[in-house]
Amino acid sequence: MKKLIFLIILFASVSISAQENYIQQIEPPNWWVKMKNPNLQLLIHGKKITDSKVQIISDKVKLLKVNRVDNPNYLFVDIKINKDAKPGTFDIIFTNGKILTKHKYELKKKSNKKRGFSSADFIYLLMPDRFANGNTKNDTAVGILEKTNREDPNGRHGGDIEGVINNLDYIKNLGITALWLNPTIENNNPKYSYHGYAITNFYKTDPRFGTNQDYKKLADELHKKDMKLIMDMIFNHCSINHWWMKDLPTKNWANTNPDYRSNFRGSTISDIHASKNDRKRMTQGWFDEHMPDLNQHNPFLANYLIQNSLWWIEFADLDGIRMDTQPYPFKDFMADWAKKVHEEYPDFTLLGETWLQKPAFTAYFSGNSPISGNYNSNLNSTTDFPLYYASRDAFNQSDSWTEGLSSIYYILAQDFLYKNAGNNLIFLDNHDLDRYFTSVGEDINKLKMGLAFLLTCRGIPMIYYGTEILTTGHEHKGHGHIRTDFPGGWKNDKINAFTKEGRTKEQNEIYNYIKKIADFRKTNEAITKGKFLHFVPENNVYVYFRYIENKAVMILLNNNNLEERTVDCKRFNEILKGYSSGKDIISEKIYNLDKITIDKKSSLIIQLKK
Ligand code: CA
Repeated sequence: MKKLIFLIILFASVSISAQENYIQQIEPPNWWVKMKNPNLQLLIHGKKITDSKVQIISDKVKLLKVNRVDNPNYLFVDIKINKDAKPGTFDIIFTNGKILTKHKYELKKKSNKKRGFSSADFIYLLMPDRFANGNTKNDTAVGILEKTNREDPNGRHGGDIEGVINNLDYIKNLGITALWLNPTIENNNPKYSYHGYAITNFYKTDPRFGTNQDYKKLADELHKKDMKLIMDMIFNHCSINHWWMKDLPTKNWANTNPDYRSNFRGSTISDIHASKNDRKRMTQGWFDEHMPDLNQHNPFLANYLIQNSLWWIEFADLDGIRMDTQPYPFKDFMADWAKKVHEEYPDFTLLGETWLQKPAFTAYFSGNSPISGNYNSNLNSTTDFPLYYASRDAFNQSDSWTEGLSSIYYILAQDFLYKNAGNNLIFLDNHDLDRYFTSVGEDINKLKMGLAFLLTCRGIPMIYYGTEILTTGHEHKGHGHIRTDFPGGWKNDKINAFTKEGRTKEQNEIYNYIKKIADFRKTNEAITKGKFLHFVPENNVYVYFRYIENKAVMILLNNNNLEERTVDCKRFNEILKGYSSGKDIISEKIYNLDKITIDKKSSLIIQLKK
């Protein structure tokens, strides 16, 4: 008899273990207690999972509803976490007359760290595959389709999270306060996997970058240095190699027609004359032949994506999210996403990539926009592409009614379109654009003007890795050319630009120039929080002020290629009243506020004194 009982127990345990593969996916993989929203929806993927009954017997959670969809391999399970639930695990039990399998689900302790970034920050954007290879063992991760090939500009080069962690002092020393990495989530694609914008698993760090724990470690190390982490996310599309593309949960989960392509015209969203056809192509067409367009109007997918961002925020203690292709997904869903993130984390910063040509198009997507009618994106920040275009061209052009300094002036004169343009992300280039040094014809003086403008203008300044060491690159030669490896990031690199000794005289000049302005900026509230006042450009000189109650900074840009300019300060009386002198923060030269002479093609950043 004893033997028989033993056999039955053995049989039962074999039966359960045979079902271990029954569940292929439960997402999110864990959650937290004491979230403001106690509800959670689990995506459960397993062969004929709908044949089983789901049970949860726990004092931590209540099973609310089991949702079935078109595909019998999916269940969407709604649960509610009890208010006073303690961290720990509970079992999700799958039965079919007998117990098929049990899944232990963990609820962790929520952290209460303050989150968010602002115009007080200075952001460094880097492409993690191209920055530093801190761990060569992960270059050829198991089960990964694309192997490392540093000779291929569009291939995988081996950079990783460890490489970034190893060089945080270099970044911090430059005056940077926040780090934005291009996406680090798994991109298990046979080609072009390095850029990260074709996700194959929303909950997993790409093993060539490291593990989720490595990503969390990066956040922790940044926070220890009083710096912040901004995660890059994509809701518009996923990779054609995403695991769910082989077994879609519902027929309308994604647009599955690769020939139906986006027209890439964000203007159609706000355009009162736009055709329905154009607007549909914008929001429902594929972004790229490898990137199916997701349908965020499917309520299960909508929940999935919102929960995914909450998961990463809580898991890694993020300070911000940069949302890729903001105008491409359905705008009502995007507004709902931002609202729900803020309900959970009121101080969290959401930045939308609005790659749009004109200020009005960008302003439409900005939070509390005065021009978007009933629509509110609920974003904190949008990317200021119109200002980028102007600052890219202005210092190459001769001044006229529309060109040169006028182009910058006219963009800033349209700030009334925003609730607060001081929240715009401002930049001279990024991972999709010509390197700024290349845009200005590798002219150091023009580069310095661009940097001085960037770091004193209203907005949240961002620089792209390599700017500080004069990295060049044309976008039209292929994206690999604007995403080159940082010299010194690989063990056998001949040059190590992470060290002062490894940089050329010119590279150090620019590194120190950025550092000097960034360090000044950090402690100067007139720039980080103050108002902006500008004067119409005259005689090739643009003069603007940043000011707050009793402090002011005067910035002068001379765009003339050949001659110095002397500016009579009488024009600026309305702001200069009460100030007696000023010091240029770069040269430390003292100026009286009568007439100021400024060298050709240069800038002055004058801290005013009473
Ligand atoms: Ca590596």
